[in-house]
Amino acid sequence: MKTDSDCLFCKIVAGEIPCCTILETDDALAFMDIGPIARGHVLLIPKTHAETLDALDSSAMAATARLLPSLVSAVQTATGCQGVNVLQNNGTVAGQIVPHVHFHLIPRVEGDAFTFNWPAGTYDEGEMESLAIKIRSRL
Ligand code: 5GP
Ligand code: ZN
Repeated sequence: MKTDSDCLFCKIVAGEIPCCTILETDDALAFMDIGPIARGHVLLIPKTHAETLDALDSSAMAATARLLPSLVSAVQTATGCQGVNVLQNNGTVAGQIVPHVHFHLIPRVEGDAFTFNWPAGTYDEGEMESLAIKIRSRL
């Protein structure tokens, strides 16, 4: 298990900073977000320190992600929301502020204040396929 003594979420895992725990396993921790986008906003983290997903061990990811179905269900039934956004801001440019991988579970109701700017585009002829080839070659 990697840990970073300067990391806020590692300090939460170590119990040095308190949190309102929802679920804890050997590998992962879910707790309430102190700055909720909506009431019932939960964070799910792997206990091991990794700044971004690309630096996270796949088994730690699996041990974390397997908790999502029951957590989403619990958030949904407890808050009475109509849906949940599961978000992972990967990197500063993607909106990540805390440099320890975390998943936001954000309760959603019709007409709430949370909006996405989702500027869906289009590809030029062949562009999508050549990008797919490039991405596949890096796996
Ligand atoms: P990010 O922008 O990195 O994806 O989100 C970081 C999240 O961590 C924010 O939603 C913020 O409210 C939450 N957060 C920051 N500091 C603390 C803290 O000390 N305790 C808890 N429970 N949440 C925190
Ligand atoms: Zn950390």
